[in-house]
Formats: sequence, C-alpha cells, structure tokens
Amino acid sequence: MKILTGEDNLVLRAISKPVEKFGPELKKLVEDMREQMFKSKGLGLAAPQVGKSIRVCLVCLNHDTPAEMIIPMVNPKISAHKEDCVLGEEGCLSLPGFYGNVERWTNISVDFHDTNGDKHFLQLDDLNARVVQHEIDHLDGILFVDRVKKIKQIKNPL
Ligand code: ZN
Repeated sequence: MKILTGEDNLVLRAISKPVEKFGPELKKLVEDMREQMFKSKGLGLAAPQVGKSIRVCLVCLNHDTPAEMIIPMVNPKISAHKEDCVLGEEGCLSLPGFYGNVERWTNISVDFHDTNGDKHFLQLDDLNARVVQHEIDHLDGILFVDRVKKIKQIKNPL
C-alpha cells in the first residue's frame, strides 16, 4: 500500500463514491489502511490517499491520551456543527513537508457506518473534530492547502 501525494493527483481530487457493499474486501482495506496509518504516524487516513475512491477513512481520536483509539468511518457525514471555528495547524500524509493553519468547526456531530454496516453517531470537539473534518474533506477531493491562507513549506521533509 502506497500513499498518493501531490496537490494535483487525480484520485486525491476526485469525489469518492459511497460504500454500498460491506464485507471482507472492505475489512481488508481498513486493516491495510490501519497498518499504513500506523507506519506513517498519521492522525487520519482516507481511502483516496491509498488510491481507492470510496468514502472510507480512519481517524485517531483522543490522540496521546489513554483513551486514544482508531476508528474506521464508512460513509461519514457531518450532520450538525456549532458555528464556532478555531484555527489550528494541519499537515497531510499526501502533502509531505507542508503545514498550515486551517479554520475548522470546534464541535461536530458525525454519522457513519462501521465495516459491518452498523450505524454510529459521535459528537466530537477540538482536535477530534478537526481530524474528522480533514478526513471527510479528502472524500470530497479537498486538501487542507485549499483552506489555508498562508502555507509553510519545510525545505527538507523526511
Ligand atoms: Zn490529509
């Protein structure tokens, strides 16, 4: 599994299709993505980043706390949000070396399915809400640099 990079990559820029079939193939994809995300030390990974134009992403919630967990979200949708926004620095595994401040809602409600097709609902705030908004953007072909006013490029990304 390889992470696609580049602001103009066509898969990264496509609008992903909803998942209609829940089964072993989807579970395998999610397991492979989990491994890749772990290796890359990302807080999230969306299927288009590994070349699959479908509405699947993984998000790390409660990062760096004992309650840290990685949740797969299938067909995630923000169903509600508070109007409050906050600026925070973001980067992306698909844009190595780039960072910038992005304005995001501080509090969202997200509806999604798990890999069995069961429905879930979460209310998230702060960094958790930010990670989910960043990943759902990927499913709509949006990269964080589209939302940044000032881009910072690090000269020699690892
Ligand atoms: Zn990203």
